[in-house]
Amino acid sequence: MSKKYQVVKGFRDILPPESKLFWLAEKLARDLFARFGYQEILLPVLESYDLFACSIGTGTDIVEKEMFIVPDKKGQNLVLRPEATASVVRAYVEGLASQGPAKLFYFGPMFRYERPQKGRYRQFWQIGAEAIGYGGPGVDAELILLLDLYFKDLGLAEIQIRINNLGCKICRPSYREALVKYLTDNEAGLCEDCRRRLSTNPLRVLDCKNEACKTIAQSAPCPGEFLCVDCASHFEGLQRLLNLQKVSFQVDPRLVRGLDYYTRTVFEFQAQTGLGAQNAVVGGGRYDGLVEEMGGNPAPAIGFALGVERLALLLEQKISRSELVAGPEVFLIFSGEEAYRFAFQLLFLLRASGLYAEMAIDEPSRSLRSQLKFSDRIKSKSALIIGEDELKNKLLNLKLMESGKELKLEYQGLKNLANIDWEELKSHLQTPGFAYAGREYEQTLVQNRDLLKLLKIYFNELNKLEA
Ligand code: AMP
Repeated sequence: MSKKYQVVKGFRDILPPESKLFWLAEKLARDLFARFGYQEILLPVLESYDLFACSIGTGTDIVEKEMFIVPDKKGQNLVLRPEATASVVRAYVEGLASQGPAKLFYFGPMFRYERPQKGRYRQFWQIGAEAIGYGGPGVDAELILLLDLYFKDLGLAEIQIRINNLGCKICRPSYREALVKYLTDNEAGLCEDCRRRLSTNPLRVLDCKNEACKTIAQSAPCPGEFLCVDCASHFEGLQRLLNLQKVSFQVDPRLVRGLDYYTRTVFEFQAQTGLGAQNAVVGGGRYDGLVEEMGGNPAPAIGFALGVERLALLLEQKISRSELVAGPEVFLIFSGEEAYRFAFQLLFLLRASGLYAEMAIDEPSRSLRSQLKFSDRIKSKSALIIGEDELKNKLLNLKLMESGKELKLEYQGLKNLANIDWEELKSHLQTPGFAYAGREYEQTLVQNRDLLKLLKIYFNELNKLEA
């Protein structure tokens, strides 16, 4: 037997129907972000090593141990991007800065060499947004409100918003000094990683999952105690705007983010249940110094990244599998060669008209029973049975799967919708609000979209076939 290959450790195939959840997440993001004025940016997956070392910081876990490094043929180190903010800023400085502020969003895979577990993978997908050139708390509020709406639209209400302010280049140094002093006094109790972080990235100690470090972090000084007047007023401004929109959030004085570039506002959206240890669905914050550090003119900025795998885990608990697997609107069932040829043509006409239609396309001699079974298995909403008799008598035999109702529709001579006896159809279907002809028809098309669309197309297309 030939060798079977396996997916690389920490990487995953996102199979149907889970892939549908990714699609839903992406589709809603596109719709919603556009309404907030964010435009899509498509970024390369490979970037230079230095881009991340300089922006995220050499003392961070990502740069120290999590990057997938890909040497190119000239010996230069490229990396599979571990996050996209640095890439967005690079792209902005390179190609957009001359046009002023920009509101951008992206969707794509990121790569980090982490220990895989539930909700943590080596390739994972993020949806993110970045607002570059905006310094006030208004856009901080906008991004948080956008996410709040996004989760509500997805039916995920139990997500907690936590915010904090880390200070700026004026007030952060005194905070850092106080923190380092406190941590140095308690150094003996810290884990090995955190002892190292003390000199490279002391803020990160507050984020460590080690129990001993967590206890020490609980009594550590918080950035909020050291905020300068401007940072304090920015933080108050943000809270005022969020309150104005009646969004519930928590100020978490110990919330920090692991990357060097964050200033002022940081925030997280955390799931209360369903994600275990990896409960942060979104992480975001302000990075007012990064654009300048990366060679651009000074421009304040803020962004977030949302983990799609974690979102999918939450959605999976809300949406049943059967809701995800939407069956065809119509399954064409044929009996005999002539009926197969007829169904084959009708199939493509229906599909071209915008309908999800299916049939046993590569088995012209499949039995009626087995076709019906197949139609059932893939959850078809209706079956159109085309047998020799139906062909001869120009009849449509339509079976609605959910109600089990069957309709025999004569199509000979039908030139337009007005000729259909909609009243009779209505009584058969018992669909409230089912109307007929003219404007009323157009209106009910919205209410009873699928069925009416289906029937309309049937008759239009059958007439064409006849002609
Ligand atoms: P970060 O870029 O670290 O701020 O992460 C932002 C969001 O991306 C997190 O809240 C997670 O939802 C998601 N995320 C980060 N790392 C991973 C990972 N290794 N696997 C899956 N999702 C991740």
